[in-house]
Amino acid sequence: EAKAAGRNGFRSYSPDMPACSTGCISLENALRGAIERDELELHYQPQVDLKGRRVLGVEALLRWRHPERGLVPPMQFIPAAEESGLIIGLGEWVVRSAFAQLRAWLDAGLPPLRMSVNISALQFRQPGFAAFLEGQLALHRLPAGCIELELTESVLMKNLEEVLRTLTDIKALGVRLAIDDFGTGFSSLGYLRRFPIDRLKIDQSFVRDIDTTPVNESIARAIMALADSLSLEIVAEGIEREAEADVLQRLNCQQGQGYLFSRPVLADGFTAWWQASMRDDLAFNS
Ligand code: C2E
Ligand code: MG
Ligand code: MG
Ligand code: MG
Repeated sequence: EAKAAGRNGFRSYSPDMPACSTGCISLENALRGAIERDELELHYQPQVDLKGRRVLGVEALLRWRHPERGLVPPMQFIPAAEESGLIIGLGEWVVRSAFAQLRAWLDAGLPPLRMSVNISALQFRQPGFAAFLEGQLALHRLPAGCIELELTESVLMKNLEEVLRTLTDIKALGVRLAIDDFGTGFSSLGYLRRFPIDRLKIDQSFVRDIDTTPVNESIARAIMALADSLSLEIVAEGIEREAEADVLQRLNCQQGQGYLFSRPVLADGFTAWWQASMRDDLAFNS
């Protein structure tokens, strides 16, 4: 039991873990009050155009600021939240908070940017999910086109007709749709034809050392070609080094995200980073 505990004392999820092993139950109980105790935080990571390094959008990434265990990364609690259904409440909190933050940035007079939000399978399949989004867009007075939902291939794989209906409802609102971790899901490529997807995120496992790993370059190149022929936008995630950004640009990938530009940071940290990067732009252009 102790051996299986991760750095934060929570057992990390593994596929063979029983849905309600003791570890899972205690994590679930702890998580249950996290929203009420105000322990959840969103961190924001910019998405930039690789050429000019201008900010195009941000991805909201969930963290749990646990009083004793410190900042807990999402992979240590999202799987348990999925299994217990708590992800519904958590996911709604994420949407509300990210939308409110974007509204605050617009009200503060910062140039318009796009907000990307990760959506879990269960949340996506929740009846009324599209209506919930519509309500939140209206509540925060946001143009739908500045919101993008990031879905993994696993979300899109089961119950195709139902998935297609939900995607179509969301798309009808004007909200953008992206496939996260693209290339890791082993799903049929046929769904790309049928689903109203706006862009693909090249998974970081293919970006890692792309400058020295020819097979990663080949895979990225193939994803680029696929996106190009289907008129999908592309963003590469997990860019840590200039050499990786260089190769991606050479492959004609125009957008990127990763530690090279900024780690995910709290809203205030992002605002400061952004203002500094705009000042650099002005200095550079004058
Ligand atoms: P993701 O959506 O693919 O997010 C990218 C992950 O890569 C994030 O990890 C981010 O911090 C990390 N990352 C970004 N740039 C770099 C880089 O240059 N190098 C490396 N090594 N990593 C980088 P994070 O924040 O731990 O999130 C992990 C996953 O948890 C996310 O993967 C997403 O699937 C899930 N997640 C995060 N927030 C939410 C949420 O609000 N709702 C749901 N359902 N899932 C979420
Ligand atoms: Mg994502
Ligand atoms: Mg990803
Ligand atoms: Mg991921």
